[in-house]
Amino acid sequence: MISQMELIGNNKVGVLPDAPHSLDLIEEIVKNKDKEQDDGAFMLINLNTVLDRYELWKKELPMVEPFYAVKCNTDPVLVRTLAALDVGFDCASAEEIDIVMNMGVQPERVIYANPCKTRSFISHAKDQNVKMMTFDNAEELKKIMTIHPNSEMILRIAVSDPTATCPLNLKFGCEPVKAAPKLLTIARDMGVNVVGISFHVGSGCNDPTAYRVALEHCKRLYEMGIELGFNMHIIDMGGGFPGDEHRPSFEEIASIIRQSLEDLFSNNESIRWIAEPGRFFAALPFSLVANVIHSTEVPASKITKNSGDEDKPGFMYFLNDGVYGSFNCILFDHVHPVGRPLFDTSAEVFPTTIWGPTCDSLDMIEDKKSMRHMEVGEWMLYEAMGAYTCAASTTFNGFARPTNIYVIGNDAWQIINTSPHI
Ligand code: PLP
Repeated sequence: MISQMELIGNNKVGVLPDAPHSLDLIEEIVKNKDKEQDDGAFMLINLNTVLDRYELWKKELPMVEPFYAVKCNTDPVLVRTLAALDVGFDCASAEEIDIVMNMGVQPERVIYANPCKTRSFISHAKDQNVKMMTFDNAEELKKIMTIHPNSEMILRIAVSDPTATCPLNLKFGCEPVKAAPKLLTIARDMGVNVVGISFHVGSGCNDPTAYRVALEHCKRLYEMGIELGFNMHIIDMGGGFPGDEHRPSFEEIASIIRQSLEDLFSNNESIRWIAEPGRFFAALPFSLVANVIHSTEVPASKITKNSGDEDKPGFMYFLNDGVYGSFNCILFDHVHPVGRPLFDTSAEVFPTTIWGPTCDSLDMIEDKKSMRHMEVGEWMLYEAMGAYTCAASTTFNGFARPTNIYVIGNDAWQIINTSPHI
């Protein structure tokens, strides 16, 4: 199936004549493995999906420049592919700035979007000529003015969807009605160069009207900034866009944003609209395939907690990836992953618990699941595993991270391969 191998950075990428179909490829990879020797977990990364997501973004929000939130997944091939598509980058630290700039990304395509920055990182941003930065407090402005006075500062306001999977406003964002105007005045008095307003409704947005409310605040504060004499020209809509099938869908969120820009800003072309999508780009391309390294039969009651199930069978499986690895998203990203046997058969199902490999009871992936019996050596498939997974995984207890296998179709390869970032 793979017709040639190419390099993206230092990583090998398999090029196929047609757009890769992830499931077919995974099945083929597993069938070709040595069953006894080769049981390592792997991540299939379909780069065509990255291009599809980019196309979807351009179709739904053509006026908004995406700045990929690098923290979501720093995988170098993913980041290089996005750079080749001319996406910008939201970086939270000096290291993230280096990741993208070492790939040849220009500083104008970088926003340092962490409102509370380390002083040495601010100096680093200055040395790299990264100017766009966010702030939400006066103390940060003092730091900025002593270290990087020529920066272009963007005020982050706290407008949140309280039902978002990961609300961010407890920690970041300035109260928009009273505190934000005061902070703009303080910035003016300090001689800070404020150029725009930003917000983040929370990662995994469930109520898209939060974008409308946030944009209403942006409009008021943007106009206030102009009255104060600032050269306002940026509105940054942060993240919150879904990475996979999710209600509300990306299309629903995009439609509310488009309508808000028309109603509130009459599609003002002098404003530079940006956003910081993370999971929107990172989640779907990554499919995790983990091996069943152990299986134990237990009384079903141990799983269902129902004493009536004592004489029925239940099963506990141990996979070679877990909560200390890719599934850290269970703890940090509030995800409830749902996997399935790679080769599904319509067999009898049993109460099931799926554990990670480490010696820690916290390391549980799925509980009270109904699933067919699996043998040691079989494979479980978890799709859409690219957001907030690899970025925070460890090798705790000596369990290696999954091996990455990158694939791309020839047409997509032709689109990106001439880019200097590849
Ligand atoms: N921008 C900032 C400042 C963030 O903190 C985050 C996530 O924490 C993102 C963007 C990306 O959010 P999402 O993955 O929801 O798109």
